[in-house]
Formats: sequence, structure tokens, C-alpha cells
Amino acid sequence: MNQLSLSSTYSTKVYINLDHQQDYIHWDSEEVAKNKRTIREIIKFLVQSKSQEALFYCMAVVKKVNAENGWHYVSCTDCHKKAKTIGSKIWCEGCKKEFSSPTRRYRLELHVKDESGSTIFVVFDKEAERIVRIPTTQVYTTEIKDEDDEEDVVPKPIKILLGKTYMFQIKINPNNIFTTKQNFTAIHVFEDHEYKQLQHEQEEKNQILPLK
Ligand SMILES: [Zn+2]
Repeated sequence: MNQLSLSSTYSTKVYINLDHQQDYIHWDSEEVAKNKRTIREIIKFLVQSKSQEALFYCMAVVKKVNAENGWHYVSCTDCHKKAKTIGSKIWCEGCKKEFSSPTRRYRLELHVKDESGSTIFVVFDKEAERIVRIPTTQVYTTEIKDEDDEEDVVPKPIKILLGKTYMFQIKINPNNIFTTKQNFTAIHVFEDHEYKQLQHEQEEKNQILPLK
């Protein structure tokens, strides 16, 4: 069972290989169809039902990568949360642990747009790495060396996301309070072709049903 595999009922699992690590994302076509929303509908949901948690799917184009808050963060190696840099040491307050070398993880603020409006989807860590296709450390190392790029804080490898369409799985948290700009956390990102392929397979499967 590698790469792509279909399970028996409505669910489809997408297997993704990254750095020889196998990971899978549970994909349920019925659930996607049921919870697919436009950006406008997601914002409306948030305004109307403040205390509810929800998962939505939203197909949108990446228009810009916001760089004001950076594109990565120094994290704790154990818990993945943001860690403090004190001198040359890395400190995690939660784990009460010190690290000598930083673990960098992606935090990409994507300015996205669909036919209904625009907003910001934030993509973290492995999900971001999956679509950028280059590990954070590698981007960071090459970027630091690239002196010409100093004014432009979004590294070139991340710019490949611009103009691309993705299916974002958005988590609405009851504690969604926007201190600065409105933004939503995308817990999974599916590439357009992955989504279309799965949709196509689902359609084919539905046509095969022997009900005559
Ligand atoms: Zn920690």
C-alpha cells in the first residue's frame, strides 16, 4: 500500500511520501462535499456561530505569501511549539528544556482568494513542507547565503506557491480571536491535482455500482 490507495467504502486515503517518511491523510469524499465552503461562507460562519468548532474544506488560489511575521519559527524539538532563543541556546518554556541547535518549522501566512472573497490561511510545518517540497532548514540555509535577496523576505522556493490552487482543510476554533488580521489555520493542504484525481476516482466508483 504505497502512494495511493482506495479503501472499500467512501473513504480514500492519500499516501504521501516525503523524505522516505510515509504519512497519510484521511480523505473522505462525502465529508469534503458536505463541508466544502467558500471563503465568504467560512467568514460568515465564524461571525454567526462564535462558539462552535468546525472543519471546512475550501478551494482557493494563493495570491501572496505574507512575510511580516516571517515564514518560519524556531520550535521545540520535542513539542513543536514556538521556543525562545536566549543567546545561542533554545529554550522551551512548556517542556522546561534547553536545546543547543534550533529546529525550524514553517509557518506560512498565505493570502488566498476564491470567487467569493479573500482571507489568510496559515499553514504549518509538514503541511507547508509538503507543498513547498523543500525542508525548512534547507530553505533557511540557502536563503541566508543568498545576500542579494535581503530585501525580499519571502524565499524563492516558497514563491512556487503563488498562483497555485489548493484544497485547504480549515479548522475553525472557538477561540479564533484575531488580534491583528483575520486568519484561519489550514490543518491539511491538498494539491489541486490530488483533489481532482480523487474526485475522478470517486465518480468512476459511483458509476460502477451494479444497480440494474
Ligand atoms: Zn517543548
